[in-house]
Amino acid sequence: MTRDTQIFDIIRQERERQTRGIELIASENYVSDQVMEAMGSVLTNKYAEGYPGKRYYGGCEVVDLSEKLAQERLKQMYSAEWVNVQPHSGAQANMAVFMACLNAGDKFLGLNLSHGGHLSHGSPVNFSGLMFHALEYNVREDDGLVDYEQLEQIARTERPRLIIAGASAYSREWHYERIRRVADEIGAIFMVDMAHPAGLIAAGLLKNPVKYAHIVTSTTHKTMRGPRGGVILMGKDFPNPWGKTTPKGEIKMMSQLLDSAVFPGVQGGPLEHVIAAKAVAFGEALQPSYVDYQKQVKLNAATMADALLKKGYKIISGGTDNHCMLVDLRTKFPELTGKVAERALVAADITSNKNMVPFDSRSAFQTSGLRFGTPAITTRGLKEDLMPWIVSLIDRVLSDPENEQNILKVRNEVNAEMTKYPLFAW
Ligand SMILES: *Cc1c(COP(=O)(O)O)cnc(C)c1O
Repeated sequence: MTRDTQIFDIIRQERERQTRGIELIASENYVSDQVMEAMGSVLTNKYAEGYPGKRYYGGCEVVDLSEKLAQERLKQMYSAEWVNVQPHSGAQANMAVFMACLNAGDKFLGLNLSHGGHLSHGSPVNFSGLMFHALEYNVREDDGLVDYEQLEQIARTERPRLIIAGASAYSREWHYERIRRVADEIGAIFMVDMAHPAGLIAAGLLKNPVKYAHIVTSTTHKTMRGPRGGVILMGKDFPNPWGKTTPKGEIKMMSQLLDSAVFPGVQGGPLEHVIAAKAVAFGEALQPSYVDYQKQVKLNAATMADALLKKGYKIISGGTDNHCMLVDLRTKFPELTGKVAERALVAADITSNKNMVPFDSRSAFQTSGLRFGTPAITTRGLKEDLMPWIVSLIDRVLSDPENEQNILKVRNEVNAEMTKYPLFAW
């Protein structure tokens, strides 16, 4: 077959886009060449429905080895007793937990999407909100921190079967112990979705939720810096407390329920090429240099947040403990929407995303916020000394978002600086 120049030209364009700009999307990162190599390998040809040693297809002896290696490395990263590395994405991992722990229509409690939560924690357009009874807790209006009193009060009056901690736009550490206490009090399952801070947690820079939660889910492609995918972990297994009996009347362990929920519950064959790439990324996360990387991610974020505050921007909760921050634009630019701000920054080759802020006066399509994160630029090699410069560029663009000349000048500065930080070796 002749080379598909159409698609490979598009891939080249995307590679150029990634190379010339400053990437501030908090959920993105650049994987290593080895992670990329494993993803583009012959393992994509293999069907392997089932789990290592218990597959529905022949010829799985080799992929069994890489899936087992992925499992062992992931357990080591978080001191977990049990893991599943097959979820195709973070949302699939969450869906499997819902399937294993809840019946349709059951109540669960998660962080409000417009307060930093994720679609899969109860949004009315997501399976979680469509098939289950979603309850939500907020952050507090005055300090932007999770409203634990409200969470406890809703938990006690509504008695949800599942409580979820974790967020997509929350820059502070969590009081997992406190949520576990109320979960135990009402007999609920406590799940933590660590999709965003997973890499910082693996490096020991934030508390490890595997110690506090019954079940932990994550993505592998955000701060963790692996291929696009999801995982599920548990500290120790526990018998199913929900009386979800099998047709034969057996009591199932939670690990069995979760395994069956991933496959055949919500997925078919696993992506063994991605699982091998996950194993590579987990191996990288166990190297000492990974701790240095995550420390720099955190330092870059803290320095960026400081620089934003100095320029008069409001950051929800006043700063960051992790890799990300949520800016409420209304304080400095009451007329500027997140949508316009995002577009102006993209035109200057600075990529970020508009985001709802807690108690937002605008819709999800307009928004009053921007979310910034440092995992990608830190992988690229940018250090804290460059963070005030990045903030000054952002400020120049947002101060005059319709001025094309101004944006072009900023873009030229961005492009010139980024040539000093080569991204791809190949
Ligand atoms: C990103 C994210 C997910 C979903 O990940 P996908 O891989 O995009 O499905 C789930 N939960 C949280 C908290 C996230 O931030």
